[in-house]
Amino acid sequence: MKKSTKAIHAGLPHNSRYGEVSVPIYQSSTFSFPSAEDGAARFSGNQSGYIYTRMGNPTITALEENVAALENGHKGMATATGMAAISTVFLALLEKGSHIVSSDCVYGPTRVILETAFAKFGVASTFVDSSDLTQIEKAIRPSTRIVFIETPANPTMKISDLAGTARIAHKNGCVFVVDNTFASPYLQRPFEHGTDVIVHSLTKFINGHSDVVGGMIVTRDESMYKNIKPVLNQFGGTMDPHQAWLVLRGVRTLHLRVERAQENAMKLARFLESHPMVDWVLYPGLPNHPQHDIAARQMDGFGSMIAIGVKGGLDGGKIVMNSVRLFTLAVSLGGVESLIEHPASMTHASVSKAERELAGISDELVRISVGCEDVGDLQEDLDNALNAISATLNPFPLERTDEEHPLFEENR
Ligand SMILES: *Cc1c(COP(=O)(O)O)cnc(C)c1O
Repeated sequence: MKKSTKAIHAGLPHNSRYGEVSVPIYQSSTFSFPSAEDGAARFSGNQSGYIYTRMGNPTITALEENVAALENGHKGMATATGMAAISTVFLALLEKGSHIVSSDCVYGPTRVILETAFAKFGVASTFVDSSDLTQIEKAIRPSTRIVFIETPANPTMKISDLAGTARIAHKNGCVFVVDNTFASPYLQRPFEHGTDVIVHSLTKFINGHSDVVGGMIVTRDESMYKNIKPVLNQFGGTMDPHQAWLVLRGVRTLHLRVERAQENAMKLARFLESHPMVDWVLYPGLPNHPQHDIAARQMDGFGSMIAIGVKGGLDGGKIVMNSVRLFTLAVSLGGVESLIEHPASMTHASVSKAERELAGISDELVRISVGCEDVGDLQEDLDNALNAISATLNPFPLERTDEEHPLFEENR
């Protein structure tokens, strides 16, 4: 099956009693055993069949099969949130004294749990610019167990080379884990480039409607699945059947949403590039993106996340946030509606300014998640909001003609 067919069909029931076309919500916490012997056989793993929803549930299985199929992976494990997926992988694969190498612009809470909770249990972590393979290689120690990257990265749209990172990780005996949230399996399948474990926040593109949180772990093989699955069941960061059903409903249009959103994003990126109130645009689809070639090589499309640097720094960013009407001022991404946020004061406010700057998250960076609306409407909204910067931050007294000021000159 091709990926768009998988998005619609993978995990759906084929031999159900009533011929239902949608997966039913098996809202049951526990499952009866036909006999004491069957119950014992299920617990010992000698018989398939459900036991208790924390350990597995048919609606959740359907979603796990769907996302694992989209990733061309072995098996999926659905989790309560994306962070539950990430923390479960860390709990399963790290131990006291072990070390992890990750990207300096990894999702904020991923870095926070490594530097606080996992550090407390004796796990060390190093964060590097993972778009530079030599930095990854240099950071690896004898105790390194995991190389964990996110590409494209949040919010700088930095691209890391998946195949190159896989080679370095494997040469050094490390498990290579990728957070594939930003691309979604529709645009990037890290297993094809040597990744061992993929994690997702289903909250974003896979569900796609900004109405559910959820996560997924997908492994490449059975042995890795066997390492992680018991930890998930025991720590309990598992999904609820109703949540799984909602995400299944979302994933069935993944290909339609992603195609439309990235088509919009490409047009907006070009428009923003030429806008006088925009200093720079980072979008992997633009030829001037520093890792455009790597993105073109390892992705099927460039996605719908754009970072721009607006004139006026922090103040300029705030004016844009407060001036948009169609874009929603909210964190998160990957929904059908377009969102806008300001990392320095919002998602990445917990990171120190010095570290933000090291990771390229400057004050003027505005992050845009492009949705599926009419692109003309989106462009008009951004244009108005950006022009509000020059209107508000006019450095000249009103009576003066501002003809010679470059900001106004270009804006006309
Ligand atoms: C949102 C996000 C997460 C966390 O997912 P939740 O569902 O919010 O727990 C992890 N990684 C990336 C890249 C994300 O965007």
